[in-house]
Amino acid sequence: MRVLVVEDERRIADDLAGALGRAGYVVETSADGEDAWFRGETEAFDAIVLDLGLPRMDGLSVLRKWRAAGVATPVLALTARSAWMERVEGIDAGADDYLGKPFHMPELIARVGALTRRTGGYVAPVMEVGGLRIDVQRLQATAEGRELALTPLEFRALRYLAHHRGRVVPQTELSEHVYGADREPGSNALEVLIARLRKKAGAEVVKTRRGFGYVVEG
Ligand code: CA
Repeated sequence: MRVLVVEDERRIADDLAGALGRAGYVVETSADGEDAWFRGETEAFDAIVLDLGLPRMDGLSVLRKWRAAGVATPVLALTARSAWMERVEGIDAGADDYLGKPFHMPELIARVGALTRRTGGYVAPVMEVGGLRIDVQRLQATAEGRELALTPLEFRALRYLAHHRGRVVPQTELSEHVYGADREPGSNALEVLIARLRKKAGAEVVKTRRGFGYVVEG
């Protein structure tokens, strides 16, 4: 799961990136509206945390431009606590949820989790697919009731595939959502990771479509 954090206050951006990273997300950050608008439109994210007060282009304009261009990524808008008009405008502009500043980090993590679950058609914090149960709050997974001792990267890969169950996910896409776009994991790192994941979860759970990618059947 890949999240874009758009926040110009460095300290808040760092806190957000740290907390979301510990919650199992790959986090990219952007500190101004124009950069955020470009990246949101050209890169694939599973959720975006968008501060509305931004330099170069304000958050509401960014959001309106994304929606006008058909960008459907779920957006959690960060608003000033007292500015109820801003919240209304944010939702009108296409925000899926909002949170007033200052906020409690666990609440933000819970809301981002709810947004990403919803886009995968899951409403509970535990994803069940085939014999798999993936608890995205406790970062634990079981297969046929057996707990899988997964590394954070293996968990990310399994969660992404389960989120997109039934769809063959290309290697490049999975790599981007496991390692992040800017990090170069090495040419066969993903194959090695998937091989370990298949060994732990079962080869019948994570299937390889040679030359195409990987799939968890729904
Ligand atoms: Ca701001």
